[in-house]
Amino acid sequence: MLDWSEPKTNPLIAVSSEPAAVPVADATGLGEIERGAARVSVDDKRMINCRADVNQLLPLKYRWAWEKYLSGCNNHWMPTEVSMQADIALWKSRDGLTEDERRMIKRNLGFFAASESLVANNIVLAIYRHLTNPECRQYLLRQAFEEAVHTHTFQYIVESLGLDEGELFNMYREVPSITDKAAWALEHTQSLDDPSFTTGTPEADHAFLRDLVAFYVVFEGMWFYTGFAQILSLGRRNKMVGIAEQYQYILRDESIHLNFGIDVINQIKLENPHLWTKTFQDEVRGMLKDAAELEAAYGRDTMPRGFLGLNASLCEQYMHFIANRRCAQLGLNPVFAEAENPFPWMSETMDLKKEKNFFETRVIEYQNGGALSWD
Ligand code: FE
Ligand code: MN
Repeated sequence: MLDWSEPKTNPLIAVSSEPAAVPVADATGLGEIERGAARVSVDDKRMINCRADVNQLLPLKYRWAWEKYLSGCNNHWMPTEVSMQADIALWKSRDGLTEDERRMIKRNLGFFAASESLVANNIVLAIYRHLTNPECRQYLLRQAFEEAVHTHTFQYIVESLGLDEGELFNMYREVPSITDKAAWALEHTQSLDDPSFTTGTPEADHAFLRDLVAFYVVFEGMWFYTGFAQILSLGRRNKMVGIAEQYQYILRDESIHLNFGIDVINQIKLENPHLWTKTFQDEVRGMLKDAAELEAAYGRDTMPRGFLGLNASLCEQYMHFIANRRCAQLGLNPVFAEAENPFPWMSETMDLKKEKNFFETRVIEYQNGGALSWD
């Protein structure tokens, strides 16, 4: 039931007919109702530039998107369910954490705190408008809520530990290695943010694909992963275990976000092979390479000296490994020389099915939560 898999290749739908020649005018679903229009046929459904009414979930075309919606719902959690007592004691203790560890924790939290909002705003204000498929939108609505839960997590951590909220939430504007990453991603959403932007030309469709790559593959699929590795490696040393548990939940959510983004991009490729040119493929590979370099700079900045089992150069190697994986998932040639995964424990952390199944317990609790008492 839980989806912990590193992105597996989902059976995407083969294209059944030619690309949409006449895109439907109303991509929002909020236009005038077409009274008595022909009923929706599955073949008219498209990821972008659809010809079918976006207000009709059924008939379902992309089962992979629906499955992700269901997995997301099964993984429901709230940050406030995690006890912060041990973290508070450690954070307030004089010598429980080194200065280096504190610096890394704060910058890590600062990076995530704003990034969750950036990702959420991109989904709601850029992606949602142009992804013209109801089952994908159903997932986007779920994902948007999960991003709210993630942002809530950072509010809860700040409150629990008594951190300086202004310092943390402003890091994306004040700490250059964090600003550089946010600015890089924002460049790719700015054209979509223009109210007059519509897909339907190769230039516009490429802009949409770049946004998907920047946010799903790079932000959530690369940068978040070093962030997870940093905190989870502390958790493995029994430090900040509450935050580490919350990060495990976030990681579980994010692995589905990433999977969804990869499937969306690959499905758009299938339906619009004219967009996936050699030039564009090289551009995407260049994006992943730049993103890995930005991450390496962030790693040096957050961990100038390194800790037991974790340092900037291992994080850089991890980014190379992850970037190559993402390339493979998108059907691209690797961008870096073959890199070994320096953190094999990361995949074990994700494979909780084998370990204690406290996630399962929570999921069952939520599923039983349907039995409300109404008296
Ligand atoms: Fe998130
Ligand atoms: Mn996400």
